[in-house]
Amino acid sequence: TSPRPAGPRLRAALDGIPSYAPGRPAGEGPGSFKLSSNENPYPPLPGVLETAVAAAGSLNRYPDLACSGLLAELADRLGVPLEHLAAGTGSVGVMQQLVQATAGPGDEVLYAWRSFEAYPIIAQIAGAASVRVPLNAAEEHDLPAMAAAITDRTRLIFVCSPNNPTGTAIPRADLEAFLDRVPGDVLVVLDEAYREFVRDPRVGDGIELYRERPNVCVLRTFSKAYGLAGLRVGFAVAHPPVAAALRKTAVPFGVSEVAQRAAVASLRSEPALLARVDALVAERERVTGALAAQGWTVPDAQGNFVWLRLGAASAEFAAACEAAGVTVRPFAGEGVRVTIGETEANDLVLRTAAAFRAEHA
Ligand code: PMP
Repeated sequence: TSPRPAGPRLRAALDGIPSYAPGRPAGEGPGSFKLSSNENPYPPLPGVLETAVAAAGSLNRYPDLACSGLLAELADRLGVPLEHLAAGTGSVGVMQQLVQATAGPGDEVLYAWRSFEAYPIIAQIAGAASVRVPLNAAEEHDLPAMAAAITDRTRLIFVCSPNNPTGTAIPRADLEAFLDRVPGDVLVVLDEAYREFVRDPRVGDGIELYRERPNVCVLRTFSKAYGLAGLRVGFAVAHPPVAAALRKTAVPFGVSEVAQRAAVASLRSEPALLARVDALVAERERVTGALAAQGWTVPDAQGNFVWLRLGAASAEFAAACEAAGVTVRPFAGEGVRVTIGETEANDLVLRTAAAFRAEHA
């Protein structure tokens, strides 16, 4: 008889998958801030919290599988038919479903790099190959190079605008020229997790582009501008065949009733939430202006974070921030991503950045 196996046989495709590295938590004690996960620093609005608590009263029941209340509210607001919408467990959950629906072994998933760290993980879990196209010198998507990298094995393209972690967003005209070069049977996923923070008027709304193109879908989330990262709710706007594929690939009941109801309450409290976004954008402009005045070169920041291309000094800068009471997100050898947070936290970053430059002059 053959020897007893040491354990279950796992798919070879999983070998070497990096685990998703969450932003480190804030340090101990008051005066410690977490600027490492692009979260919204504001706690839930009282009305949203009350709705969530009330919904928690029926936690013994499964949630609405179809997320009908939430999707109806979104359809109305975005001006899209209900069957063009699908909600999921954070936009990262929807992202994983989109890859499952389109790509497997022998297929390619194409994206810019550096970009959102979930893309390579999700592609690899599906057994698909990742094709990464380096960002250009301005830390933007190199769309001509991405178009040139499309092969007959390309099944899905992620376009992240604003791009995590560099913050750059893609002007509508450039995106349209790129989409014109993508074959109609390749799904383009416009990841607009930070859409509400964009102020560059050249940057369009992906939902306008999706309307004209059956192979384009848009991902949005309640985690960033709406401040509900802990509830895990995101959604896709997609043409019916893709939206139907999302219903098939969904984990059943993957969006809790608390999440669905809080998301609806957030949509109904949009003015208050968008005023907070305005305040964060004003802080972003203050921070990028101050960094530029200190002599830093910061790429155009259109999300709720800024990117410092520190190269080999990234870890040292992150440690200096940590010592000042602020946890940021270093990408070894590349740079540091700093979320825009509380004014006091942003000030600590600016003070650390000034001292760091003085020391390294
Ligand atoms: N897309 C991008 C570009 C992100 O940065 C993030 C969160 N870091 C997500 C999607 C996922 O957000 P969520 O799953 O919370 O919706």
